[in-house]
Amino acid sequence: MSEALGLTHSQILTRKNFSREEADSLEKIITRRELGEPLQYILGTTEFYGYNFHVGQGVLIPRHDTESIINAVKNYFSHDQVFSFLDWGTGSGCIAVTLLMEFPNSFAYMLDISPKALSYARKNLEHYKLSGRSRIITNINEIDSELELLVSNPPYIPSGEINNLMNTVRDYEPVIALDGGEDGMKYYREIFAQCNSLLKRNYYIILEAGDLSQVHALKNLSHDFTFEREFLDSGNFPRALVFHKE
Ligand code: GLN
Repeated sequence: MSEALGLTHSQILTRKNFSREEADSLEKIITRRELGEPLQYILGTTEFYGYNFHVGQGVLIPRHDTESIINAVKNYFSHDQVFSFLDWGTGSGCIAVTLLMEFPNSFAYMLDISPKALSYARKNLEHYKLSGRSRIITNINEIDSELELLVSNPPYIPSGEINNLMNTVRDYEPVIALDGGEDGMKYYREIFAQCNSLLKRNYYIILEAGDLSQVHALKNLSHDFTFEREFLDSGNFPRALVFHKE
């Protein structure tokens, strides 16, 4: 109601009646919701780790579960540490922007192949005045310095399961951000393979996993990297996995 009518919560509560135009604009939003459109797309914004992010169709809506990646990074990096990281598949930029805010001496490379997603990532960087501490890239070869960390919440839903997702996800969120190939592991494999040549020093890889079988599979997939530990999400489910390479 607040969005449709341009009124604050208390203004709505104290209003005695609404005009025809106000009722019509409210009705429009209600219809969009009834059809299944996520509220975050209708409002154009969502919250992640206490920060606000612009979102809309074409970019994955940040999930609270993904905040466990931020908690994991905080366990290994100190607040003032100087480091560069890659956010592989940055989408809205929620992970990278949050890390840039929480670690004031860090620098982000934000990789994505979706122009639509990157337009939101750019907006979110500008909103927090972080453009100078980040570089948006569409190819991993554009990285021109050594990295201490790679974070990613890659697409990890097995292709055959996309159809079974809730309609608010399946019909509205970009399939490119969800579909992880036949077994859902396609991009994890790509990340580990690419990292091997890319990252030279002592560094960390922190990945979000979709379910317990992926947690298990990821630990086996990581060959050159040592599995360190897992971080739980708010439902006490292992969500962020930390790997380390000497
Ligand atoms: N990194 C973004 C997020 O966590 C996008 C992830 C994706 O598109 N798979 O929301």
